[in-house]
Amino acid sequence: CGIVAYLGERLASSVVVKGLKRLEYRGYDSSGVAVMDGGMTVYKKKGKVAELEQLLQNQNLTSHIAIGHTRWATHGEPNDVNAHPHVSNSGRLSLVHNGIIENYASIKQMLISKGYTFSSQTDTEVLVNFIEEVQKAGNYELDEAVRKALKDVVGAYAIVIMDKENPNVLIGARKGSPLVIGLGQNEYFFASDATPIIEYTKEMVYLDDLEVAKVSPEGLEIKNLQNEVSDPQVHTVDLEL
Ligand code: GLU
Repeated sequence: CGIVAYLGERLASSVVVKGLKRLEYRGYDSSGVAVMDGGMTVYKKKGKVAELEQLLQNQNLTSHIAIGHTRWATHGEPNDVNAHPHVSNSGRLSLVHNGIIENYASIKQMLISKGYTFSSQTDTEVLVNFIEEVQKAGNYELDEAVRKALKDVVGAYAIVIMDKENPNVLIGARKGSPLVIGLGQNEYFFASDATPIIEYTKEMVYLDDLEVAKVSPEGLEIKNLQNEVSDPQVHTVDLEL
């Protein structure tokens, strides 16, 4: 339902959790966040964002990169395990997702035949493992693996992904579900709409369907699934909060 992600100099977990609160108006049943902290740690909880906040309170978080989600369940009941972010079998990738992967059942069967296991009932856990499988099979960089995997995905999605082995990169992509990129001073935001970002920057890029965005300290790069680079259109957004 709602996505917020951050890469920059601020405390990522607090930017993300504050942003998730701004997205509460969309409705949701659970929330979660994954932070890059040397490893990658996921905190997620059924219920209000305030409960997630409580879970984070004594964690002494210092990470500068994080992804977060408020979930409106479509596949699998609302509970802690089905909440996002979802982590791939190897523990390398974490992913948040708005929308529905329509062909998740056939992809899941293929992955099970390759030995993958699943702890949730979600279509989302299938997607993160599918991207991992594509990445492993071709030894691709994450953005390349995401482009290749999405060619075989049917459905609607906005997603943001972190890779433990490339801890300074966030990848976002969308089809049929909105995803906005906020551009700050040496910092980047992803969100399902501008409301969680606007207090930090007015400079926004609206990702188009079937585009994959990569942000890192080197900047923002947007490509379509055919690997063609597109020039980001930066909009200056004025929003009353
Ligand atoms: N289909 C996903 C799930 O059920 C995402 C739902 C959403 O958009 O929040 O977990």
